[in-house]
Amino acid sequence: MGVTVCTAEVKSILTRTSGYLKTVASHSLQPYRGCTFGGALCGVGCYVRHNRFVTRDREWGSFLEVRVNAADAYRTQYAAERDWARRRRGRFAIFLSSSTDPFLPQEDRFGVTRSVLDAMIAQAPDELILQTHTHRVAAHLDRCRQLAALCDLRCHISIESDRDRLPGLPPPASPVRRRFEAARALRRAGIRVVVTVSPLLPIGDPRAFFREVAESADAVVIDHFIEGDGSRDGSRTARTALPAAMALVDPASTALDYRERMVAVAREIMPGRVGVSIEGFAGRFLA
Ligand code: SF4
Repeated sequence: MGVTVCTAEVKSILTRTSGYLKTVASHSLQPYRGCTFGGALCGVGCYVRHNRFVTRDREWGSFLEVRVNAADAYRTQYAAERDWARRRRGRFAIFLSSSTDPFLPQEDRFGVTRSVLDAMIAQAPDELILQTHTHRVAAHLDRCRQLAALCDLRCHISIESDRDRLPGLPPPASPVRRRFEAARALRRAGIRVVVTVSPLLPIGDPRAFFREVAESADAVVIDHFIEGDGSRDGSRTARTALPAAMALVDPASTALDYRERMVAVAREIMPGRVGVSIEGFAGRFLA
């Protein structure tokens, strides 16, 4: 898929959260509009592809707006948004990012996330959640380490299964093995790492998978597309090619009961370190 890349200056970069994200963070921050992983496996069931405010009817994965002044916008908004968040939400917590990936390959050229992280090192939030689908986050280990000393940092790495491929669907943006390596590297550096199994895909060997998660991360979040894709019954994802491909591997995986079975396995292997759906994203884990 060809990708149209453009640069843009934004007036603001810190967005006050609403909806499901409200319980997770006070603000979200998108260094890019669009996501060039949209043509990869995670893009097939990506919830953002249904957001016409973001896509403006363009094909998901085919465009990228680079917000070149994101760090300046952060610095401009910092004091007012921090004060608002502490007053209204209890703490200034930023989710980076909910509708793009902060560590896209284009980041090597444009460095927008890098500049935002540098701005945060100078003016830290109370809490920062880095949410990514790629091992490329490990290239920012030093910045993560500095931020972990300044704020409550959690690095969420999505690893949805032990499989790299589902029948008929594109490969992932980052191989499962490399994402696990990145998780281990960050954790070894003292950074709190959460593996987000979101959306949960069919897992070949659940016990071996969650044992590897337990060794690589501090916690795990398990989220099924049903109850997890922003529609109550998973109808958004049902319109994509994802459920049919999941069913070809394991028909049971398309029902919510599959999530409960995987949660039970995970809780046995890593008790007290398992979160479910939005509660887990917010850092609240089952006892
Ligand atoms: S990285 Fe995230 S935002 Fe980008 S396509 Fe994948 S799921 Fe969607």
